[in-house]
Amino acid sequence: MFSIIILGLFGLLHGVPLQDLGNKNTIYGISGNGKPLTIKAFPAIANYQSDLYEVYQEPYHYDLRQRAAVAILSSVEESGVQGEIVFVQKHPPVGPIFIRGNITGLSPGKHGLHIHQAGDLRDGCDKLGGHFNPYLVHHGGSKSAIRHVGDLGNVEAKDDGVAEIVTIDPIMSLSGGPRGIVGRALVVTEKEDDLGQADNANSLVDGNSGKPLACGIIAYVR
Ligand SMILES: [Zn+2]
Repeated sequence: MFSIIILGLFGLLHGVPLQDLGNKNTIYGISGNGKPLTIKAFPAIANYQSDLYEVYQEPYHYDLRQRAAVAILSSVEESGVQGEIVFVQKHPPVGPIFIRGNITGLSPGKHGLHIHQAGDLRDGCDKLGGHFNPYLVHHGGSKSAIRHVGDLGNVEAKDDGVAEIVTIDPIMSLSGGPRGIVGRALVVTEKEDDLGQADNANSLVDGNSGKPLACGIIAYVR
């Protein structure tokens, strides 16, 4: 399998018959020599980037059977924060991921929730890299047009310190490929994520969400 991102692929595809296989005209299949190509298109964002395309050639390395993953969050030092978050994707490698779980031991209010590049917990939550960002864009909220794939916005803890999480994400994948989140770390932070809306440079890096309180690896469920 190869997966690459090509800018402006339309020129290259001119004259090649495209068979629309997906919803909203975003997935195309090109047959040929027993190794069909699948191309997923991301529409251009005005004044920001041109159309983006992911190109896959079968056979995929995706394990299509894996539909659920879990992250067990463990606290950093004495923070006492813990959590368990389950990810379910009914039709991997594409389609929405249903995210459900809770985090306990938080201070009341909002806390950032992000998936980081790496899942290496040898130094606690300190060596996880930045927010998972395969498209090299800036930080945002979970519903922003431009966001890191790893941006899940905020969770909100009630007075008892418990944050319940029930959300759906349209971008992440439980399979491999450029949007795959399994093996990476889920992190809850001490501060609220400003979702890239604050008037300073760091807002577009991590939303000024502060240090990790707890983290855990996103791992497949048997
Ligand atoms: Zn981010």
